Amino acid sequence: MSQQLTSEQLVEIADRFGTPLYVYHAEKIKEQYEKLTAAFEGCNARFFYACKALTNINILKYVKSIGCNVDCSSLNEVLLAVRAGFESNRILYTSNNVAFCEIEGAKEQGVHINIDSLSNLKKFGEKFSDTYPVGIRVRPNIMAGGNLKISTGHSKSKFGIPLENIDSVLQIVKDTNLRIRTLHIHTGSEIKDVEVFAKGIEVLFDIAKFFPHLEVIDLGGGFKVPYKPGEKGTDIQALGKKVAEEFNLFEKLYGKKVEVWFEPGKFIVSEAGYLITQVNVLKQSGETLFAGVNSGLNHLIRPMFYGSHHEIKNISNASGPEKEYTVVGNICETDTFAEDRMLNEVSEGDYLAFYNAGAYGIEMASHYNSRFKPQEILVIDGEAKLIRKKDVLEDLLMNQVEVL
Ligand SMILES: *Cc1c(COP(=O)(O)O)cnc(C)c1O
Repeated sequence: MSQQLTSEQLVEIADRFGTPLYVYHAEKIKEQYEKLTAAFEGCNARFFYACKALTNINILKYVKSIGCNVDCSSLNEVLLAVRAGFESNRILYTSNNVAFCEIEGAKEQGVHINIDSLSNLKKFGEKFSDTYPVGIRVRPNIMAGGNLKISTGHSKSKFGIPLENIDSVLQIVKDTNLRIRTLHIHTGSEIKDVEVFAKGIEVLFDIAKFFPHLEVIDLGGGFKVPYKPGEKGTDIQALGKKVAEEFNLFEKLYGKKVEVWFEPGKFIVSEAGYLITQVNVLKQSGETLFAGVNSGLNHLIRPMFYGSHHEIKNISNASGPEKEYTVVGNICETDTFAEDRMLNEVSEGDYLAFYNAGAYGIEMASHYNSRFKPQEILVIDGEAKLIRKKDVLEDLLMNQVEVL
């Protein structure tokens, strides 16, 4: 049974707070986390929410309260996680092409660290030797994920230490007496196929023998969630079974138990989020009927950035006759959300709700065109709470230094 906010609930929230507006549903986040813990019951598994998907401090606090850990992709995210109350052993920092001082900053916070380049690994080893076990992010040369832009583990990807450089890793470990505690991969986003994870496990198990201090295999995030009615996400039940099998086998072969870690972002928050917009203008242009809303790529860039699909519903007229619309934003760029989409008949002033807007929505939002960011609302225990207030003009000038 999946939890969703109803059209009526969303309309009520939009009426009360005004649009554009991101709405998040706390209990849905919990439901997703519980799906994971149930599916991986047979494994020694830990989950770290990849918070770059959505970092509002209330979301971080909520994620903490339900027992989930947190994965950070920058030192600032680590500091936000600390601010949200996560203890250091519940924070993971997976760096990518960062300056060494950022890794040092994370070390000062005492968090788990995954390093993704030989040069930073060497610096870390030279400075800290065997005093601070770390993980390495391996690039397994696997093609995976929804599309090339969100695929990160293939042989041309910038992410991770290429598998073929394993000898250099071992040399650094030997020279600096570094302890490698974790082997990490994250091959991409929207990975539907359980076999991709199985392939990743195979790659890591294969090199595990070189790392006597190994305690954790970290398989990253990238679970797919359904975007369209009838579409399937990653079969986490099947994956849970597969992982349990593989890890039991590993224990037999190597005579030691390792934990399996995951870093789900989208899976935790995507379906819990909605972007509610309002139709400013209807415009018939040749064959195309445009519905122009009070939002755009400044608020939700995913459709334009990597062609992602968001279901859109006219929540003001949820049972009216259907017509075809092209839904666009109000930014001076081509910011098409959806082309030729069937919607219940739209009038100017209607609310259009975008689904699957919890992950990489507000997080990638900007002030482009000097427009304000959407407000954010958290629905928790049936109550809608404002968690990001409206911008004001001063926010657009913040940190600018007027010298003229
Ligand atoms: C982005 C990211 C994730 C989360 O990816 P999702 O597709 O949102 O699950 C996990 N791990 C790392 C290292 C990432 O960069």
